[in-house]
Parts: sequence; structure tokens; C-alpha cells
Amino acid sequence: MHSSSTDSQSIWHIAVPTPLHTGFDYLGPVHTPPPAAGVRVRVPFGRRLAIGILLEIKQQAAVEQKKLKPILNLIDVNPVLPPDLLALGRWASDYYHHPIGAVLHHMLPALVRQGLPAVAHTESIWRVAAAGKDLDPASLQRAPKQQALLVTLQQNPAGLAAEVLDAGHANWRPAMQALCDKGWAERASLAPVNTPRTVVQPAFDLNPDQQQALNAVCSNLNGFNRWLLEGVTGSGKTEVYLGIIEQVLALGRQALVLVPEIGLTPQLLQRFSSRLSVPITVIHSHLSDRQRLNAWLSAASGEARVIIGTRSAIFIPLARPGAIIIDEEHDGSFKQNDGFRYHARDLAIVRAQHLDIPVVMGSATPSLESLLNVQQARYQRLHLPVRTGPAQLPHITVLDARNTPAGQAISSPLQQRVRQHLAAGNQVLIFLNRRGYAPIYMCRACGWSADCQRCDAHMTVHRVRDLLCCHHCGAERPLPRNCPDCNLAELFVLGLGTEQVEEYFQEHFPDYKSVRIDRDTTRRKGQLEQSLQLAHSGTARILIGTQMLAKGHHFPQVTLVGILGIDQALFSADFRGPEYMAQLVTQVSGRAGRAERAGEVLIESRQPQHPLLHALITRGYRAFADAALAERQAAQLPPYTRMALIRAEAVSAQHALGFLAALRTQLQSNMQGSPILLLGPAPAPMERRAGRYRAHLLLQANQPRVLHSALQCVPVLVAGLPQRKSVRWSIDVDPSEMF
Ligand SMILES: [Zn+2]
Ligand SMILES: [Zn+2]
Repeated sequence: MHSSSTDSQSIWHIAVPTPLHTGFDYLGPVHTPPPAAGVRVRVPFGRRLAIGILLEIKQQAAVEQKKLKPILNLIDVNPVLPPDLLALGRWASDYYHHPIGAVLHHMLPALVRQGLPAVAHTESIWRVAAAGKDLDPASLQRAPKQQALLVTLQQNPAGLAAEVLDAGHANWRPAMQALCDKGWAERASLAPVNTPRTVVQPAFDLNPDQQQALNAVCSNLNGFNRWLLEGVTGSGKTEVYLGIIEQVLALGRQALVLVPEIGLTPQLLQRFSSRLSVPITVIHSHLSDRQRLNAWLSAASGEARVIIGTRSAIFIPLARPGAIIIDEEHDGSFKQNDGFRYHARDLAIVRAQHLDIPVVMGSATPSLESLLNVQQARYQRLHLPVRTGPAQLPHITVLDARNTPAGQAISSPLQQRVRQHLAAGNQVLIFLNRRGYAPIYMCRACGWSADCQRCDAHMTVHRVRDLLCCHHCGAERPLPRNCPDCNLAELFVLGLGTEQVEEYFQEHFPDYKSVRIDRDTTRRKGQLEQSLQLAHSGTARILIGTQMLAKGHHFPQVTLVGILGIDQALFSADFRGPEYMAQLVTQVSGRAGRAERAGEVLIESRQPQHPLLHALITRGYRAFADAALAERQAAQLPPYTRMALIRAEAVSAQHALGFLAALRTQLQSNMQGSPILLLGPAPAPMERRAGRYRAHLLLQANQPRVLHSALQCVPVLVAGLPQRKSVRWSIDVDPSEMF
């Protein structure tokens, strides 16, 4: 192979998934015409084989050519990463200071990462047949495996892939065959896109604000534009999105729609497919690897005309990109908080710029970042100030909860109003963003409290499952009856969780059915849909839940919303705490009075005079945001400055802190004269999690350029630190949480 002159061989620069921040040079195969960048290759890497992505073909290698290893083989004819995604990957690697090989791998579906051919294979699914839909599973009492399968299938009428069935049912195939033989289940193949309807629902008549927003975007579809669509809850943002998408489709292009994890509901898909007669594909974390690849290919080929997905869908290849829409742009789930810590909204803007297409960000409660971008004329604002239809914005009141006796879940005034609204035939919604029964379990006699052995945190009491559970590391142990220290039966709970709220309502309002919706009651597939059905149908009159209930759902019969437990957000160690609180309160309040019935929102607080809370209640989210922005500016916090967090964790606090202290010293001498602010190292607000000690070094600068030139040195400086061996470290640019 090396007999011919190596000089004629080209140098292929390859991104390999490693923690190293560079690409690697290899000798290209002889007699192979050079492929386009973005194809996969198999290469030797250390002692293993790796799958890499071709970044570019060079004439000169960084090291002596005879030291280079040859490429083993070329996997693709056509790039799996088209030029715009390759450019996005390079940009993201630079901006987030994450290794290019790791970034590009992250962008690919798992099967492509593993080297499988990037071609579609339809996947079999199993689903309940018409004859099995209403069958009572109890009739299968003698065949428990078939019974369990039937229940699963009934809960997932769209069908399930083998991979998903494998996870929940050991050795399920014989039982499935039996169900199929009886005609209760059937095997089908699943297309990555829906079959478009021939007749679609007509568009709603838009009000003047909606029309104006639609016109503004649609008269600028040929080029990069950033729009912030700010509309109160119920103002019809989705209708504007649909109007924009129709125009994009009319131009023969595709639309990419990013939604928060929690916003990807069957109702949303229903709404899109009933209005748009084109193939639509959906990308989310519950797809099997095969389904994900098929969806990815349908977008890359142009077959799927509308792509709806959560965070990672920003990396979907598009054959004919036309526009990117981000619903609920402020939502925290757009930020990835481990590994490659990117923000999908921010990457959407970069990608739209590369592609020269518009990007539309919608929210009732825009992030402070986006509002500042509007102020500074980087984004154009579109405003929907009124609700569509007859519904009025709800009236919001703060209830002083300081006088509520301990042991009483909700204040007496809230209880009274609940009674009145229920008596009038309406539904009430009680929001508390904390699941479980109570966050603290203590002994009255000796002061013992149930703490996690691996985290600096209390364990949450879960009465239903009879467990203590750590919400930070997932540790569980049985709920003790007597104190583990003094053995007395003096244990009591402190604080409130959704389980306890549910118990309270069952006790005090026994005549009304309640439903609780949080991560505990929706763990099994299909449970969420069942619970939502109880809520939508009006069967359940009292709806209790966490943010799962707060976002994106329409409950037209809800006229009273009670909000509990917001005080901790006001005094959070995280400077973004109040912003998240205000967004959540506004979202939850938006659940009230959506139909003809006027709504009322009651917020319990022990800090009823808090200035930010006061601004939010009396003058609305925008007034809150103005006040919060002023506070951020005065304190020199983002979005007025740029931040990056260097995190380290180790088996001891000294290791984590010592590593960051050494890094700080190096950075300081390297960045002399630079206007960068280094804060710390300091222990993380929750120092110990899952048995490891965590510390932070905070970098802050007024100019992104300054911050990035400092971060650029970090990998090199770390490589020279002997302390690096005992820590795991990472860079988080624009961190969205400080824990
Ligand atoms: Zn005790
Ligand atoms: Zn824990």
C-alpha cells in the first residue's frame, strides 16, 4: 500500500470523538477521489478503531508525513453532515470550547455514530388491533404476560417498536404472537412521516396583531432575520407559526420547529397535522435509534417538510431549509446541562444566519437575554398583546401565607375560594413545583433529619411509594417509622410536596375527584395521556401538579389557579431564580380562564411585599422583566456581561478546589492586563452530589471576545496541571444554572 510515493497522498483532517480539542491528520487512501467534507471514515486511533468525520483535505500535515497513519476506509459517498451543519459544529466547538470530534458525534443519530449505513429501513412496530382496543385486560387473567402487553399496547395506540417493548417486557415475543393470533394486536411498519391529510382545516381568522406579525415575517422570508414574537398566553402564537409555515412550504422549503421537552404533546402534533397537508416528522428523546435515524433521513432527503423536535432537533439536516421557529424560547430545556453544554436557541440563531433564513422565537415570557436583544435592536419584536376569543386575562392576587398554621397544606382564604369555584361547577388547578410528600423528614426528639448520604441535600418523603428519595442523585431507601438515631416514634414531615397536597384535597374535598400530574404519576408510558384525559374531560375537578401541568395545556374549565411554594425561587442561590419564578407563575396563571369563564389566580407567599413579585402581580411580566434587567445591570450580571463556569468535581473537596486554584493562578498570569474577572474557586452551592465534591471557578467579562480568549487557554493550561488527574472538569459557557 505504501509502495507508491506517499507524496501523492492527500492529508485528511479528521474529527475523532476524543476529549482532545483538535482534529487529527491521516493519510488519505490512494487512488480515491477526495470526498466532500462531512463524510464518515474509519481510522485507527491509539489502540482502537474510531469513526471520524472528514473536516477538510489539506496539502500539508502538521507533523512529518511518514508518521501519519492511513485512513482505513471511507464509509459514506455523500456527507452525513452537510456544509451548514459542519459549519454549525465548528462554530459550537469554538464557542462552547467543547472538542470538535465530540460535538460532531453529538450531532449525529446513534446508528450513524456507530458506523451503520445512513439509509432508511422501515421498522416493525406492534400495536393494538381494532378488536383489542376496548377489550378488558382482566379477561386475560390466566395469561399475565399477554395481559401486561395488552395494557401497554392499549396505552400506546400509535404502536411500539421492539426496542421499546424489550425494555418493559422480558421475552415478549411469544405472548405478542398469541395476541396477534387472537386478532387483538397487529404488526405494522412505521413510516418516519405521517400520511398527510388531503383535506385540512382552514386557518382561523387572524386578529390585526396576528396578521401584522405574520405579514412582517412573511415579507422577509428570503434572508436572515431574528424575530421575537412576544404574545400573552392564549394570544394565538401557534396560529402565527402555522401561517409562517404555510408560506415557507409554498416556497418549496422546509420548516424546523423547536419546542420544549414538555411542549411536545399529542395535541400539538394533532394541530399541525390537521392544518398542514404535508409530511411531518417528529424528533424527540423517546424514539428508538432506528426511528430517530429514519426521521433524520426524512428531513435530510426533503421528504419531511415540517420537522418538529426538542433541543437536539437543531442538528437535523435539512434539504431545503426555509425557516426555524422556536416556541417558548425562554424554556430551560433548550439548554443541555451535561457533556456538550449547548443552547439550542442560540445555535438556532447561528444556523439561521449560516443558512440565511429567518428565525422566529415565540414566548409569553421572553428570556431577559432576548428582551435585551430587542432593546439593542438585534431582534425585531412582534407583539400580540391580547388573547384571542372572549377570554380575559386572569386576575392575580397574592395571599399572605405567614398565618397559615403548620400542618395545613393551603391557607384558609385559598381553601374558601377553591370551595366557591368548585361549587360553581368549575375546575381548579393547584400548582406546586415540588413532587413527593414533603422535602424534609425530621425527629422531634433528637433533631435527626433524613439526609442523602451522597449529597448535601435532604431526602424527600414519598408516602405513596413508602420511600425516602434523593432528588439529586436518585438514591432511595425505605421510609423509617422510628428515628434511626434515638429509635423514638417522633418523626414528622416539614414542607409541602404534591403528594401531600393531593392528600389534603382528598380529605377536605372528598366529593370532588382530583388528579395529580407530576413525574411520579406519569412514569409509565401512557399514564400522562390518561391523567390529561381526566383533566380535559372534566372528570377530575381538582388538578394538582408540577410544571408538567403548567405548560402548553389548555384546560378551558379551570377558573381558579392556586400557586404554592414560590418563595424559595425568590431567594434562590441562582441569580436566575426570580426570572424562572416569574416565567412559571405567568405560564401557570395562563391556565385560568381560557374559555368564556373569567379566571382568578391566587399566589401564596410569605414575602407578599417582595418588589419583583409585586411588579409581576400588579404590572405584569414586562414590568417584572424591566425591573429584573435593571437589577442585573446594576449587579453586572448576564445578559449585561458574559459568564462561563469552569466546574470541577472530585472525590474530595481539596482536589476539586485545588485544581481550580492552580488553574486560576495560571489563567491570571496568562491573561495579565485583560479585563476579565475571575471569581473563586468556591464550593458549588450544593457541594456534594452523588458522592462527589464540586467546585466552581467563574469567569466574567463585558465582552464575549475577552471571555473567549481566556477560555481558549484553558485546555492547554489544564494539560500542564498535575492536579488534573484527580478531577473531572468541564467548561459551561452561558451557564443557565449555577448549581
Ligand atoms: Zn430521634
Ligand atoms: Zn443524593
